[in-house]
Amino acid sequence: MCCMSFELSREHEEFRHVVREFAESEIAPHAAEWDREHHFPTDVVRQMGKLGLMGLTAPEEYGGAGEDGDFTSLCVAIEELGRIDQSMGITLEAAVGLGISPILTFGSAEQKEKWLPDLVAGQALAGFGLTEPGAGSDAGATRTRAELVDGVWVLNGAKQFITNSGSELTSCVSITARTGTSTSPAGKERAEISAFIVPADAPGFTAEPAYDKLGWHASDTHPITLEDVRIPEGNLLGERGRGYAQFLATLDDGRIAIAALAVGCIQACVDACLQYAGERQSFGAPIGRKQGVAFQIADLEVMLRASRLLVYKAAAVKDAMRHGSGPTLAELKQAASVAKLYATESAVTATRIATQVFGGYGFMEEYPVTRLYRDAKVLEIGEGTSEVQRMLIARGLGLPVE
Ligand SMILES: Cc1cc2nc3c(=O)[nH]c(=O)nc-3n(C[C@H](O)[C@H](O)[C@H](O)COP(=O)(O)OP(=O)(O)OC[C@H]3O[C@@H](n4cnc5c(N)ncnc54)[C@H](O)[C@@H]3O)c2cc1C
Repeated sequence: MCCMSFELSREHEEFRHVVREFAESEIAPHAAEWDREHHFPTDVVRQMGKLGLMGLTAPEEYGGAGEDGDFTSLCVAIEELGRIDQSMGITLEAAVGLGISPILTFGSAEQKEKWLPDLVAGQALAGFGLTEPGAGSDAGATRTRAELVDGVWVLNGAKQFITNSGSELTSCVSITARTGTSTSPAGKERAEISAFIVPADAPGFTAEPAYDKLGWHASDTHPITLEDVRIPEGNLLGERGRGYAQFLATLDDGRIAIAALAVGCIQACVDACLQYAGERQSFGAPIGRKQGVAFQIADLEVMLRASRLLVYKAAAVKDAMRHGSGPTLAELKQAASVAKLYATESAVTATRIATQVFGGYGFMEEYPVTRLYRDAKVLEIGEGTSEVQRMLIARGLGLPVE
């Protein structure tokens, strides 16, 4: 009987070491200041590109890692960045999972050649514009419109909460828009939604001022407005009318990557609590000697290990599918939603526990657990809320949930 391994490969662990060193030397010394100043460090994003982090799932012809990379490596990288700075973790997650992925998966040869080399090199960033002021969880309710006029697509509408969409590195944003109506297999009329690549310098495309967020202060998030934006017919991304399905498929992978970011967050909580529990004295002894504290840290470790296993299992499913073998799409979707739901809710709980372990200092910006507490909440919201994950998981079990 063959024995099942729950460990990552030696190559993955060596790669983890490289990213950890980078995060500790290039990000850790500045993360608190970037957070305080709401500063998006484009120079560090470029360095992440030079390290090859944006190209982990891309073919060599676009400058990616080819066979030397995989989705599991991307999760390792996001986890390690997220352990030091959740903002830099989400920047990588969105750069690859939301920026590169739809172009790589659904783009034409010309689109890939035009956009991917700079994105893969980390010298440019692409946004993913699905959410709108009136269309979040129900993203099919998009109101942005695209009309084909004399061989040019004319776009009008607004997108909301779009990551990596307004920095000096942003080269384009992929968006969904209504291109007409179609008839469902049940004979019902429904919106036809298509996807487009919108260059960030197209006249009429505006990244509005950045949001003032609870957390992820050093990540780049803007509302986008599209006013008579004219783009070539060839900027249609994938098949006309398939845009919504393409964007939902993109989110399956993104959810695994967000779950990896949550693992980094929980690991940071464990690290911080272990150190503090050994140093902080109360009633004449380190607080780690008190069961009330030690048991809470033990709970963090359980959440960490369970979350990590779910993430790497889902990443392994993704990698197996990339090589054209094994699991079905339904298995990937279920694994992604389960990992996302469990890891992100665990991260929120973990940051609450870690803040409690730090007592009053946990409420002061001087300690990283405070930043983690603010950063964690959005993990339960972005790329599908916890409620949406529960809905998808229940449907995956065959329940007819609306
Ligand atoms: C910092 C940040 C970055 C983001 N980056 C991007 C990005 O790059 N690109 C992008 O397209 N989007 C992005 N988003 C948007 C994010 O994906 C949405 O916020 C999320 O999907 C929820 O949509 P909503 O905010 O409209 O909430 P709503 O859909 O209005 O939900 C409100 C509440 O109702 C609940 N709810 C809604 N429908 C149901 C249902 N059927 N059953 C049970 N409960 C339900 C939700 O779970 C939630 O609790 C980002 C968001 C944030 C905060």
